[in-house]
Amino acid sequence: MLRPRFLFFIVNPYAGVGRGSLAQLRVREAVRRIGPDAEIRVLHRGEDITAAVEQGIYQGATDVIAVGGDGTVGGVAGALAGTGTTMGIVPAGTANMLAQELNIPLSAPSALRLILGPHATRCIDAMELDDRRFVYQIVLGPGAEALIHLTPELKVLFGRSVYALLGLRMFMDFRPLRVKGLIDDEEIDSRVSHIIIANAGILGFRPFRLGSGIHVDDGHIEVILMEGQSRASVLAAGLDLLSGNYGTGSSLRYLIARKNVYIETEPPTIIKADGEFFGHTPLDMTVLPGAVRVIVPPR
Ligand SMILES: [Mg+2]
Repeated sequence: MLRPRFLFFIVNPYAGVGRGSLAQLRVREAVRRIGPDAEIRVLHRGEDITAAVEQGIYQGATDVIAVGGDGTVGGVAGALAGTGTTMGIVPAGTANMLAQELNIPLSAPSALRLILGPHATRCIDAMELDDRRFVYQIVLGPGAEALIHLTPELKVLFGRSVYALLGLRMFMDFRPLRVKGLIDDEEIDSRVSHIIIANAGILGFRPFRLGSGIHVDDGHIEVILMEGQSRASVLAAGLDLLSGNYGTGSSLRYLIARKNVYIETEPPTIIKADGEFFGHTPLDMTVLPGAVRVIVPPR
């Protein structure tokens, strides 16, 4: 028999330039209606999401609901991976990548109706680095280094044009990386500008995405090598990436990992995972297929 649901909402009131605090009001309303079978945990600025998720699981949550932007949603998903606890999403950010990828309503009232009403679930894949789990993208290369300098203040100041500035930085800072590694059992040995390891195809800015073949719930991760040794090839690979040209003549090499990705680079380079600095190469990543069960609209 199914045990009764206990919903544990983790709210980031600082998400999405005011959207987080608005969503918080909606969630409070909903929790009042639900009564004792729901609880709200509001995050402090910069607080560790994993601890909040663990608190929810400890209190017996059947569903942990992330209320916030991509950072909050990714943090909750990572902490829930492999626990068997279901995840819900109330999008309150600016990009809302996972919600878009899974066709989850983008308004808080509709997302709450979905969570409380009839719904389906889909199991999304996760990527494990050391003992942490990520659900969007891992980026290796000088672009990842440029991303380090991208502060929230800069994002607010420049909006989407910050990505154009970033592209320019990547172009100017270009230096090729010698890459050796293993994607499952396949050896790679190549010269690249960047490597993108993607579970989700959507990028933070629509309508761009990393290719229509990338799905969060297909049980594998795509490894995209941007091959080439010159600034012109970086530009070509970037354009191929944004225009979805993965066929012949493309400067992108596209590999699939179902189990493990091991990558060494010469020189060592920065690893960014789900938008935050993780460390430096070598990278050793394990694929966790179907690790997080997420509430989605019924088919
Ligand atoms: Mg996938």
